[in-house]
Amino acid sequence: MPANLIKGDEVAESVRTEIVKELGRIYDETGLVPGLAVVLVGQNPASLSYVINKEKQSKKLGFYSEVRRLPEDISQDDLLEVIEELNEDEKIHGFMVQLPLPEHLDERAILTAIDPEKDIDGTHPINMGKLFSDEKGFIACTAHSILHMIEHTKQPVYGKSAVLIGRSNIVGKPLALILLRRNASVTLCHSKTVGLADICREADILVAAAGSTGLVKGDWVKPGAIVIDVGVTQVGDRLVGDVDFDQAKEVASWISPVPGGVGPITITMLMWNALEAFKYKLEI
Ligand code: NAP
Repeated sequence: MPANLIKGDEVAESVRTEIVKELGRIYDETGLVPGLAVVLVGQNPASLSYVINKEKQSKKLGFYSEVRRLPEDISQDDLLEVIEELNEDEKIHGFMVQLPLPEHLDERAILTAIDPEKDIDGTHPINMGKLFSDEKGFIACTAHSILHMIEHTKQPVYGKSAVLIGRSNIVGKPLALILLRRNASVTLCHSKTVGLADICREADILVAAAGSTGLVKGDWVKPGAIVIDVGVTQVGDRLVGDVDFDQAKEVASWISPVPGGVGPITITMLMWNALEAFKYKLEI
């Protein structure tokens, strides 16, 4: 029997419903709304489209929203000054810097300059460290979205084998820690992993975030597994994932499509984190 689909829009909608409810409750009590900003450097078309979507969604949900559009050739010092302004701005409770940045900018230094309490993308070393030590902090939106997708299936994570392909700071590493915290046994794979196919065959939960089209074949999937395809590669005019969807859906119990899987949820998780930052500031 073909797998159930994990539809990103459905998962995102349930998170948005919670956000709107919580914003309404806080507004009724305090008359305040949370503020969210995105910093965009240059004109990268994919980044521009993400930022437009973020702005639309944040306004629709009832956030105060700002986009700081900055020139491609902005200096490191000028960008750091914008970050400092946002750190100090009382209207803004959380903000993120859209990646990738132009090559002349030191990405790590820029992300580290963000006030960790406003770091709604979860990329500051303090928030990563909190995740490492099981403390409350912001979690990278993509990893957080994948957790919501797994929870959406209502299948247990406790004691299950989770195999993650990709060890980036925004997907594989944070997700490994999140799933460990939920008592999964986690294997984190990467481009130097030997015997990837056999490792995947043992996975109750298989997450592919390599950016390599068709990497995961149907016979890599354990019967009944949950398969989350995070990879997105533009092939001609189509977006293609890392999993051979047609083969894998015949074996898995749950599977996410590309497009329409993780993508729609990540922006919503940014709003979720902005709401958390707002509540933290208000101490509620
Ligand atoms: P990244 O930083 O480039 O990391 C890719 C990871 O995959 C690396 O750890 C790499 O191993 C590993 N890898 C690459 N090819 C592999 C292979 N053939 N076998 C095993 N491992 C392999 O990428 P990222 O930022 O994490 O993104 C990963 C993918 O997810 C991309 O397609 C990206 O577009 C997509 N993505 C989607 C969303 C969304 O909202 N839908 C959000 C974020 C990312 P090494 O470490 O050894 O190099």
